[in-house]
Amino acid sequence: MVTTLAPEAVDYRSTGRMSTPPLPLRVLKFGGTSVGSEDRIRTVARIVKDTQSDARPVVVVSAASGVTDALVLATTGAQPWPEVRAFVSRRYRVLATSLLAPTAGAIYALDVEAVLSRLDSVFSHVGSDSALSKAATDDILSAGERLSVPLIARYLEAEGVPARATDATPLIRILTDGSVDHATTEHLIRSWACTLGPGVVPVITGYVASKASGATATLGRGGSDYTAALFASALDAAWMERWTDVDGIYTADPRRHPEAERYERLTLAEAYRLNRTGGLGMHRDALGPLVRAGIPLRIRSTKEPEKAGTAIV
Ligand code: ADP
Ligand code: ASP
Ligand code: MG
Repeated sequence: MVTTLAPEAVDYRSTGRMSTPPLPLRVLKFGGTSVGSEDRIRTVARIVKDTQSDARPVVVVSAASGVTDALVLATTGAQPWPEVRAFVSRRYRVLATSLLAPTAGAIYALDVEAVLSRLDSVFSHVGSDSALSKAATDDILSAGERLSVPLIARYLEAEGVPARATDATPLIRILTDGSVDHATTEHLIRSWACTLGPGVVPVITGYVASKASGATATLGRGGSDYTAALFASALDAAWMERWTDVDGIYTADPRRHPEAERYERLTLAEAYRLNRTGGLGMHRDALGPLVRAGIPLRIRSTKEPEKAGTAIV
C-alpha cells in the first residue's frame, strides 16, 4: 500500500539514536525530464533499486516536463484552465497507462481527479477578471509535483519497492519574507521521517511548501533541487544525487554551448559560488543546505545513467 503508515516508528536518519537499518541515507532527486516519459520512469525505478543495494533511498520528484509551464499559463490567464487541465490530465494518464496495470491505473486516475478537481474549485472561486491570490497561484503551480508523486510511488510498488507517497507541503515552512524557516522545516521533516517503516522508500513532492497559516507556497522555479537539499540536510544524508538530463555540471550550459566541458569534480564551496551567479542550472538556493551540512552531491543523467556525472564534494 502506497500511503499506509508504518506501525512502528524508526529513526530514518543515518546518524540518529537508533542505528537500524544501518545503511547510509541517499536523497535522489529526479527532475522533469526524468519523470517525463515512460522510459525515463523505468530508469528511475532501476536507479532506486540499485541504490537499495548500498543505501536507503529518499526520492524527491518534480512535475513531468512541460507541466509546470502549462500551469503557469493557466495562472496568468494566457491559456484557459480547461485546456491546461486537459493537457495535464492527458500527460499523466498516458504515463500511467504505459506504466501501471489496469487496477493501479484506475486508482491513480482517482489521484489525478482529486488533484485537478481541487484546482477546479480554486478557479471557480475567482472571477474571470480578478487576479488569483499568491496562495491560489502556488496551489495551482504545485499540481505537477502532486501528480508525479503518486505515479512514481505506485510504479515503484508495482516493481516490488515498498513506497510511501508524501506531499511535502506541510513539511517545508516558508516565512513571511518568502525564505525557508530552516529550524521548523528540519523539525517537521525529522518528525515525519520517524513515521516511515523500515525499507519503505518515501517519494516526495519537490517545489511545494507552506506558510504557517497552512496556505500552499512554492520554492520558486526549479525548486525541487532545494527540496531535495532540505531533506538531505534534515535527515543527515550521506549523499544527494540530482538526476537530470545532462551527465553533470559543465563549464557553461551544454545545451547552448556544445564546446562546454564537464567538471569531474567541484568542491561544495566552488559549486555554491558558481551556482549563485546562475552558472550551474540548479535552483540558486539548492546548495546552501548541503554546504552547511557538508553533504556531497552528484549530478547524473537518467539518459545516460551509467556515466559518473559530476561529484561536488
Ligand atoms: P531538471 O528538470 O532535471 O531539474 P533542469 O532543466 O532544471 O533539469 O536543469 C538541467 C539543465 O540545466 C540542463 O539541461 C542544462 O541545459 C542546464 N544547465 C545550465 N547550466 C548548466 C551547467 N553549467 N551545467 C550543466 N547543465 C546546465
Ligand atoms: N516543477 C517546478 C518547475 O518546473 C519545480 C522543478 O522542476 O524543480 O520549476
Ligand atoms: Mg530543474
